[in-house]
Amino acid sequence: MVQVLRGTVPRVLVTDLRHFLDLSEDAPGPARRLAEHQSNIVRAATAGDVGTAWKSALPCRRRPAHRRCQGRMIVLLQEFGTPVRWQCSVCGDEGVISNWEDSPFDLRRRRLTVVGAVSEIVIPDEVAAVLRELHLLDTDCERLVFGIRVRENGRVVLAGTDGDLDALIDSLAAEANHETSRRRQRRLDAAFDALNAAAQTSKSG
Ligand SMILES: [Zn+2]
Repeated sequence: MVQVLRGTVPRVLVTDLRHFLDLSEDAPGPARRLAEHQSNIVRAATAGDVGTAWKSALPCRRRPAHRRCQGRMIVLLQEFGTPVRWQCSVCGDEGVISNWEDSPFDLRRRRLTVVGAVSEIVIPDEVAAVLRELHLLDTDCERLVFGIRVRENGRVVLAGTDGDLDALIDSLAAEANHETSRRRQRRLDAAFDALNAAAQTSKSG
């Protein structure tokens, strides 16, 4: 499934997204986690700017010396029709993902839309993680979530119009209301409060 080009250093993980799409429910944990990571990278790359590399909020999944790497995924989609490139901002782990076009993780806009004034809100990293786990997001909301970037100062920033933010907050509230696990519901509720507070701060500022 995965082909690793072993030169000396660095090594580049070359993957084909199609190989991850039909992973069965009983696939081993590491395979499922890799599939999730790869699909999240594709979602980020297709949610963000084309032609420039940018630092997403996606964490690195490596654990050098049994400690979680603190890096983030820097993603680059040079142009449509080319593979997505990614690299960890800390450990340098890197790879390319091909055949992402028209997969469920391809978040490119399908039509021209008139975008209103975009505001940026700074959110806790934990909120970004919760948002990535939501199951009921539509493509527009997913684009907001996977477009979350990390600034040089380490701030985690979500950018969208007021309408985008309202839709995302509504989706988060809906998922919290329908959650049957008390533990996950508390996590969703906390993220809802934090996101709401951050949005209010941005609107008043
Ligand atoms: Zn790393």
